[in-house]
Amino acid sequence: MIKNLFLYNSLIGEKVKFEPIASNNVGIYVCGPTVYSEVHLGNCRTFISFDVIVRYLKFSGYNVRYVRNITDAGHLENDADFGEDKISKKAKIEQLEPMEIVQKYTLDFHNVMSLFNTLPPSIEPTATGHIVEQIDMVQAIIKKGFAYEVNGSVYFDVKKYISQGYKYGKLSGRDVDDLIPGSRDLEGQQEKRNSIDFALWKKASDLHIMKWTSPWGIGFPGWHLECSAMGAKYLGDQFDIHGGGMDLKFPHHECEIAQGFCANDVDPVRYWMHANMLTLNGKRMSKSTGNTLLPKEIFSGNNDILNKEYSSYGSSIFYASGTLS
Ligand SMILES: [Zn+2]
Repeated sequence: MIKNLFLYNSLIGEKVKFEPIASNNVGIYVCGPTVYSEVHLGNCRTFISFDVIVRYLKFSGYNVRYVRNITDAGHLENDADFGEDKISKKAKIEQLEPMEIVQKYTLDFHNVMSLFNTLPPSIEPTATGHIVEQIDMVQAIIKKGFAYEVNGSVYFDVKKYISQGYKYGKLSGRDVDDLIPGSRDLEGQQEKRNSIDFALWKKASDLHIMKWTSPWGIGFPGWHLECSAMGAKYLGDQFDIHGGGMDLKFPHHECEIAQGFCANDVDPVRYWMHANMLTLNGKRMSKSTGNTLLPKEIFSGNNDILNKEYSSYGSSIFYASGTLS
């Protein structure tokens, strides 16, 4: 057992000694992909980084429970509280059922991760498989007085949270006053008490495909909620390490801290770790700007910016068998 393991905790911006809650057992949660399109190389960077961390923890003698979720519901366009569900939107474009989209891109993600020789997580829970846990969590937060229902949706009351002395913005370093944008006239924003409040549960319109029955009517969970509910279920109300890409610090992880604390009376995570963004031609690799490379293009060399192909563990075997085609 390596006793002097130090890691960079992004919550405090310092390298600190790693001391797990339960001696030689480590619980780690990493935000997984939203399975609505092929995973690009920038996404892979995060998962490969945490693969190295998980392997090193195991090598160091720890028993590791590694939870990495699949987001298959509730993630709206632009990571916001309004707009269309990314998976439903893609389902319409490809003329498939939303669950066919989920299946297709989950398989693609698994294939790519095995091409990179990463270890599968110990548990890979899905948002749609944990609707009950998410509803329970919303109820707990309402009961504590940190969330309110309006017109079939439930929002987290950020101002109330701050008024109790809690710091919303402590992970991302954001100043709450800067977080109140001029977005009140956007769809769904006007029913919030304050524009920085975020959705725990959203009422579904008749056109919304992926929806469930809840105490507040028919709707779907807010995107941030699933990771809190699944992290607590499989790793405990407080667990050791939470990871993800740097771009998830705000709002996703900031919201996780607030809602986890309010539901369970304990800070949900001891060590926050964030993988940096991959850049391509000096710019962040991002699907929204089209500045991306797909893993299969790296392996085949089939992209104008590459002048040769790069092999990965087993890539020729997998590629020749057509897994990625
Ligand atoms: Zn997450």
